[in-house]
Amino acid sequence: MRKNNIILLLLVFVCQSIFAIDIKTVEPEFWWAGMKNPELQVMLYGNNIAKSDVSITAKTAKIKEVVKLESANYIFLYLDLTNAQPEKFNIILQQGKDKKVVPYEIKERKPGSADRVGFNSGDVLYLIMPDRFSNGDPTNDIVAGMREAKVDRNDQYTRHGGDFKGVSNHLDYIQDLGVTAIWFNPVLENDMPDGSYHGYATTDYYKVDRRFGSNQEFVDLVNKIHEKGMKVVMDMIFNHCGSNHFFFTDRPSKDWFNFPDEYVQTSYKTTSQHDPYASAADKKLAVEGWFVETMPDLNQRNPHVAKYLIQNSIWWIEYGGLDGIRQDTHPYADYDMMSRWCKEVTEEYPDFNIVGETWLNNNVAVSFWQKDSKLAAPRNSNLRCVMDFPLMGVMENAFDEETNPWDKGMARIYEYLGQDIVFQNPHELLIFLDNHDTSRFYRNIGQTSNLQRYKQAIAFLLTTRGIPEIYYGTEILMAADKSEGDGFLRRDFPGGWDGDSVNAFNASERTAQQNEAFDYMKKILNWRKGNEAISKGTLKHFAPMNGVYVYERKYNDKSVVVVLNGSENEKTIDLAVYKEILPKNQAKDIISENIINLDNSSLTIKARSVFILEF
Ligand code: CA
Repeated sequence: MRKNNIILLLLVFVCQSIFAIDIKTVEPEFWWAGMKNPELQVMLYGNNIAKSDVSITAKTAKIKEVVKLESANYIFLYLDLTNAQPEKFNIILQQGKDKKVVPYEIKERKPGSADRVGFNSGDVLYLIMPDRFSNGDPTNDIVAGMREAKVDRNDQYTRHGGDFKGVSNHLDYIQDLGVTAIWFNPVLENDMPDGSYHGYATTDYYKVDRRFGSNQEFVDLVNKIHEKGMKVVMDMIFNHCGSNHFFFTDRPSKDWFNFPDEYVQTSYKTTSQHDPYASAADKKLAVEGWFVETMPDLNQRNPHVAKYLIQNSIWWIEYGGLDGIRQDTHPYADYDMMSRWCKEVTEEYPDFNIVGETWLNNNVAVSFWQKDSKLAAPRNSNLRCVMDFPLMGVMENAFDEETNPWDKGMARIYEYLGQDIVFQNPHELLIFLDNHDTSRFYRNIGQTSNLQRYKQAIAFLLTTRGIPEIYYGTEILMAADKSEGDGFLRRDFPGGWDGDSVNAFNASERTAQQNEAFDYMKKILNWRKGNEAISKGTLKHFAPMNGVYVYERKYNDKSVVVVLNGSENEKTIDLAVYKEILPKNQAKDIISENIINLDNSSLTIKARSVFILEF
């Protein structure tokens, strides 16, 4: 071949390489036939792809609309799957003679996929921060090419190496404790240069962070958790993404984000979402301001953003086999879009449950966010489960004060629960002593009374109305104060790393006090499982009298009566007061396993102790 021809050939080859249609990402990678919502958005991302003509080779899926936005690097392909059957086909992008073929698949759904039972008041959620629970695979601690390429267990704001394998290795421990569901703090990719361990700055909505494992390893973990009879709740974040997401570094359109021109921080005053007197400026700042500078605020009023997020959650439910979602910063996102999201998820999965992070400091504000709230009408959030943050504050103080009839100790609980009239469904409140963002309930001050406070709180949490959540490590008395910084609220579970000096997964290595706490919680948790008086029962309580708080949970002919002594002194109560909830003259105390005789006119209860009486 002559030299000139070789040069010509090389030139053609180089030109083809430069100008060939380049697709970086297709999301979602696949979908399913037979979903209730027949519309599918396929996002194609790649250099200058928007000038392509788009066609598909599908037999049953049809193109509904091809949307091109301001950026030349995106195509939003909307497909109509009304009559779609499972099939493999190609999406074809054509620019003149240049052609790109993208294989796509509409899969068959697993039988019964729509019928999954979401978490409910029969469950207790165990909250795990995956980076901090256990490192089962040190080879994935640092992944080449990712921005935060270090592990330092002495630094509470750096990754520690925990992963799916670590959780998988300790499922027997979690199951033995007696919880029935695991809520994972976010597991999606956070390719941020620092602070990526907590997971709240998503950089890929369709891939788990490789430092936890692969998508397949996540699905395998979910399956293993299901095999052990437990459910899985996945943390999702619609309000914002991480600033290294390509949505932000290469925006599909200017209005993809709120405050697109300059960084404006949210006021965190989501009160403005329900406040009848709120100014437009306050409403805008709370919802459209960014959570922090590294988390750009997604504009959910943009229909393509809304569709993308809704579809992403459904993809994870279907692909990952989820039983629930915890939605981060729920009130910071657009009310109407979030409402639409909850509705669409429920249409696909009627019994699925979502809990929104409604971090508001009073029950009126929290109740506004619950499905069918009369306070929000005629609007409806469609959000079944909300977080009872105010109860956390009540419990913080209730169990070590000397109870008075009005506002101290058990009176706090009595008065607070009496206000449940504001809630449309108090049984669908997530209740907790603490979580990854708050001080841990247990105070490490070495007092015996502190353990008693803890035990009363656990007994109350696991027997009152609502869906309890236990933050990992609570069972072994992990303590931390928010004043130390958020990283310290998320310390490693001792024994989760090879070479840890103590392995608290083993009873023999726990302190006597840790075992006392663990065994106490385990006993109540395992008794609670399948107990309909607790999961489905009514709640009836009595005003604290003589420092003692008494309540009943009842379902059909099964009932449980809880007696909490909110005093530093032994107390005797007059049983005649409680006769309407004492169907028999004896009952078994679940905690001591003793038969308690209720024949006498009175009952004596030791200082700060608890009876859980089962009839
Ligand atoms: Ca690891």
